[in-house]
Amino acid sequence: MSGKRSDYISWDEYFMGVAQLAGMRSKDPNTQVGSCIVDRNHKILSIGYNGLPRGCSDDDFPWERASEGELGTKYPFVTHSELNAILNFRGGSLEGSTIYVSLFPCNECAKAIIQAGIARIIYASDKYSDSESTIASKKMLDAAGVEYIPYESTGRIIEIHL
Ligand SMILES: [Zn+2]
Repeated sequence: MSGKRSDYISWDEYFMGVAQLAGMRSKDPNTQVGSCIVDRNHKILSIGYNGLPRGCSDDDFPWERASEGELGTKYPFVTHSELNAILNFRGGSLEGSTIYVSLFPCNECAKAIIQAGIARIIYASDKYSDSESTIASKKMLDAAGVEYIPYESTGRIIEIHL
């Protein structure tokens, strides 16, 4: 009889955990989102979190959600985790891959996911499901045949000492 561990984490827990860990890198005071793209062989292809493009200092750009003009908010500047994960990948094709996301992708990220050939989305939260962005996102994903599946929480709490 083998003595291997039986309480190891599942693939789903592992990849959603990596996505959430990536989100902890975000400087956004309100929303921390992470993404992890994996291939059919359970190999991690890319990781991303929401942040400013390279060279754009976190101290020089706004993190506000509301301001007199759009230029005073984060929206024109922040790259979402899904797009960052797609753009961070330099290894070839993401065709047929799966993206684990802590929050359901917005319509802009849905476009990028579709065009990158990502086949499946596993999402933890869909808290903006009533927003026009999410409705538009699902309309495009449905048309393009990209699957989106809610992540089934196991309730496992993982403590990591750093
Ligand atoms: Zn997005």
